[in-house]
Amino acid sequence: MILKDGIVFDPASGTRAVIDIFIKDELIEKIGPELAPRFQGEEIFDCANLWIFPGLVDMHVHLREPGYEYKETIETGTRAAAAGGFTTVACMANTLPVNDTPSVTRYIREKAEAQGVVEVLPIGSATKGLKGEQLAEMGLMREEGIVAVSDDGFPIRNAGILRLVLEYASRFELPVIDHCEDLVTSEGGSVHEGKTGTRMGLKGIPCVSESMVAARDILMSQWMEVPIHIAHVSCKATIDMIRWAKIQGIPVTCEVTPHHLALNVDDLFLSNYDASFKVNPPLRAEEDRVALLEALKEGVIDCIATDHAPHDPQVKMVEFEYAANGISGLETALPLVLEAGKQAEIPPLVLLEKMTVAPARILGIDRGTLEPGKLANLTIFDPDEAWTVDPSAFFSKGKNTPFAGRTLTGRVKATFFRGKAVFLDRGNPWGLIPVCAKEG
Ligand SMILES: [Zn+2]
Repeated sequence: MILKDGIVFDPASGTRAVIDIFIKDELIEKIGPELAPRFQGEEIFDCANLWIFPGLVDMHVHLREPGYEYKETIETGTRAAAAGGFTTVACMANTLPVNDTPSVTRYIREKAEAQGVVEVLPIGSATKGLKGEQLAEMGLMREEGIVAVSDDGFPIRNAGILRLVLEYASRFELPVIDHCEDLVTSEGGSVHEGKTGTRMGLKGIPCVSESMVAARDILMSQWMEVPIHIAHVSCKATIDMIRWAKIQGIPVTCEVTPHHLALNVDDLFLSNYDASFKVNPPLRAEEDRVALLEALKEGVIDCIATDHAPHDPQVKMVEFEYAANGISGLETALPLVLEAGKQAEIPPLVLLEKMTVAPARILGIDRGTLEPGKLANLTIFDPDEAWTVDPSAFFSKGKNTPFAGRTLTGRVKATFFRGKAVFLDRGNPWGLIPVCAKEG
């Protein structure tokens, strides 16, 4: 199969060029100009004016299985991933049961192999039951395929436990991802603490509840010389801390979500208490959003992760302060990132780097590049197509998005995983039969 005349981005090598890609079985066989005439008899697909880039890598999603299959399953979550242009997703451990033992890890991996349409990499919990007390079975989970440890959803409250987590995780070469939140200062809060939150009559979550835990993590990482990754950074104060850490050479990395780049607390105010805007950490002030974009441009923020958090309608259709946190983010991520990046004048190649090779590097996996001999995981994208977000058309079971009705520019046309089309857009420009549609 040949993808002809696409605008090919390979962030790992900094390439952006109009070239052809020759895919054979599940691998990229060749990349170069004018391959088409040399390989007669192959299927040739015209990709003129379309972007082709490595399948996106998302290091932070919630697939909800096992235990919350009414919110999402590995099957629906990976279809949503494919529709968003992702070919690798790492799923957090806050399932039921929690992924804190090798048997749960094995269950997720086997389920993903049987029903997933893209690659699923399980993240094990750092502590048993996400309780922050005793360490989870990291070594045994590693043997079953976890790629990192995290208590995401909760911070690791006790610094002594964090120390042990870093010590053990580094022994097994597992990255540690921390959800930075001081639960005392955030208690009872449901919005960013500030004027808008007060006007809404809701208790706030101050920026310091994130930045003080990030500061602790950074100092711990410096002292132990063990890397730590800070999940979903939302505040300028946290960014300032991470910038300082990087200047000191402390091995800290971090991620930002598309929704924190796209929205601020005033958007929530205008939504009139729409719980689909409720997320943790909360949507922050405009100055925080601008600081996140600047940090992305500067390289202080290493990567972009969706924190895809699908929910059933019941937990969102209640008073704002009681509603569950989370946004179903896989299917809108890339156009939102490109739009926010445009405002901050960040080139698409840089943004794509943050969604491919950068998260792959943090997880220590060989993904997110386009090179001969590598797996043919890639995405074809029309950068100019405008479309309106309709949650009822989502592959995800989670329809909880604050972007419903919003017109976005740029649409995934096809996603290939191991050389097979696992998603094709409505138009199906090439008449291919996607493998994920075979059961109807
Ligand atoms: Zn999360």
